[in-house]
Amino acid sequence: MANVYRDLIPEKRLLILVNPFGGQSKAKSIFEGKVKPVLEAAKCKLDIQYTEHRYHALEIAKGLDIESYDTVVTVSGDGLIHEVINGFLQRPDAREALKKVSLGLIPAGTSNSLSISMSGEKLGFDATHNALQVIKGRPLALDLCSVTYDDSRYFSFLSQSFGIAAYADLGTEHMRWMGDTRPVIGLMQEIFSKRTYRMEASLLIAESDKQKIKDNYKNSLKISEWKSPASGEGSVKDTMPALSEPVPENWTTINGDISMFLTSNVPLLNRGMLSHPCVSANDGFIDLLLVRGDKGIVKQLSMFTNVDTGKHFDMDIVEYYKVKAFRLKPIVKPGKNAYVAIDGEHASIKQFQVEVHPSLGSVLSL
Ligand code: ADP
Ligand code: MG
Repeated sequence: MANVYRDLIPEKRLLILVNPFGGQSKAKSIFEGKVKPVLEAAKCKLDIQYTEHRYHALEIAKGLDIESYDTVVTVSGDGLIHEVINGFLQRPDAREALKKVSLGLIPAGTSNSLSISMSGEKLGFDATHNALQVIKGRPLALDLCSVTYDDSRYFSFLSQSFGIAAYADLGTEHMRWMGDTRPVIGLMQEIFSKRTYRMEASLLIAESDKQKIKDNYKNSLKISEWKSPASGEGSVKDTMPALSEPVPENWTTINGDISMFLTSNVPLLNRGMLSHPCVSANDGFIDLLLVRGDKGIVKQLSMFTNVDTGKHFDMDIVEYYKVKAFRLKPIVKPGKNAYVAIDGEHASIKQFQVEVHPSLGSVLSL
């Protein structure tokens, strides 16, 4: 007999995007074996699409009928999430779309930073827990960043990086067989070769005192606490001056050699790597970790032995800032290679600027 009470409860309408080639190509079996049965048991209405090429998920999000769905679920790594967010942000009704349709996450890629940070390390790869998050989760507001070059603009939900961490992500792709130990080997190579990178960065700093950042973090919203996504209409505008203009006087400029310039909007950028321990999902700030270029092998190595617990934060070689915006100009000597990584993907090695847009997106979380 039909459950008459069940019929009174509005069903959850999910668009499921599965990247069959994400990670070790296990997304399809994870979804069909572990996630789909749970979603069906919860009487969710499922529309399932397998992505067929790069930017397919972006195109789907850009053209989505937002009245037909409550949630877009990505069964993938961070790459597909980046595409869905950018698809929404290319719409004329970007703000309404992001408010109306939340993201649900089933981690099935090589890097799953947002999902790991949402669920906590131990639960990060528990497909049943992730399915429950999609069914029962509430929308948690997520700050997003616009990234502007002289000829393009897009959005970033995760991180912006220049220096040895960008190399570790992108310069080690020939070692893919190593799985997620690959970036660790990359970092070691860079530290032992004493590689530094030259840049000019200008920051709109909200707080630079590490003790105050720590105290504020303890007293304020953490990633597990609640705030709804922001309401708003239309597209998303930047408030920074154009790249061709100088930065305002209240910005701080840092000129010189660095080892690592690494921002994040999640606390765990990788499994076991609590790189940004004072991140809140929606505090309206970008967390910047900066290590200057003359700190020596021993100190840098000890930073990496402390990063699993976040204790590197207290080391004197680590600078940590809450910023609202920044501009970065990589200065690369001829014959040298360098990388800029935005959300873990290759980006142009030229001047760009970033601004945070508070609570613009949302992700389902328990
Ligand atoms: P990973 O974490 O392993 O990188 P992601 O799910 O993040 O996995 O996806 C990586 C990239 O795969 C994304 O940038 C996306 O554009 C691309 N992609 C999606 N579908 C396909 C496909 N069918 N063939 C090739 N690439 C794809
Ligand atoms: Mg933040």
